[in-house]
Amino acid sequence: MAQREDSSDQSQLDGMPRLGLGTWENTDAGTCADSVRQALEMGYRHIDTAQAYDNEAHVGEGIAQADVDREEVFLATKIWTSNLSYDDVIHTAKESLDKLGVDYVDLLYVHWPANEYNPEDTLPAFDQLYDDGLVENVGVSNFEPRHLDEAQEVLDAPVFANQVEMHPLLPQDELVEYGRENDVNLVAYSPLARGKVFDVPEIQQVAEKHDASEAQVSLAWLLQRDGVAAIPKASSEAHIRDNWGARGLELDAEDVEKIESIETRERQVDPDFAPWN
Ligand code: NAP
Repeated sequence: MAQREDSSDQSQLDGMPRLGLGTWENTDAGTCADSVRQALEMGYRHIDTAQAYDNEAHVGEGIAQADVDREEVFLATKIWTSNLSYDDVIHTAKESLDKLGVDYVDLLYVHWPANEYNPEDTLPAFDQLYDDGLVENVGVSNFEPRHLDEAQEVLDAPVFANQVEMHPLLPQDELVEYGRENDVNLVAYSPLARGKVFDVPEIQQVAEKHDASEAQVSLAWLLQRDGVAAIPKASSEAHIRDNWGARGLELDAEDVEKIESIETRERQVDPDFAPWN
């Protein structure tokens, strides 16, 4: 079972760097490979992709181009909902490794508990890939506590992380608490609320106080939460660098109180098949 309390390195959670690079909608081959290479050369060591993003080959290209060893990179991908039968998980995970140009991924997620997802059929395939060393950690995404309980019962491997939408407009307190109690790391996706946090007055005020960007404030708030990592997507070098700067921003109790006083609740990623719909 994961022992994150033992780790004194605040930049990581059980070996997963807390600030990573997201790549959804970064589908142009050159732009995607460049952003992954630039991020790695800047110091990022966590890259997030998915079968559904249609860019695994470009992400792999960026990793190959960067002057960083593959072993130093924490690489995560996700199995799409139509590939969640036992045989399809095994088969398409291997296709993803081929596209990425790697022998293993550090984290393989179930992208959504939807469509072909059936815990008794899907999860044993994740255990198999874990036992075979093709997957270092098993994760889930968009899971609610009831799905997490069920997954923990079926899987032999620990549930390493749950990747969910999380930002100051969607703090996900229940899942943060669940993660703490059950040693499941949380990975915050859309951590900038896809740009929506930039217009929130409380975020703007904290940004102004620290001479920081709104993106940095949102990310710093997430990174100060126990057991939380964040994977902002950025395709330009300026944004990639700005987000990296969040690691140096320390919010005080007054800032955190101000951010947590925001009452607006907004979800950016809300497909019909989501378990909450
Ligand atoms: P996000 O990271 O909240 O926001 C990305 C947007 O913010 C892009 O338009 C980006 O522009 C812009 N941006 C980034 N840094 C900026 C900065 N410092 N200043 C100004 N603008 C900035 O949204 P997201 O892409 O939805 O989420 C992040 C990642 O989470 C995804 O890429 C994906 O890897 C993952 N994700 C997972 C799921 C899931 O179901 N598991 C769902 C959604 C997302 P540029 O591209 O122009 O830099």
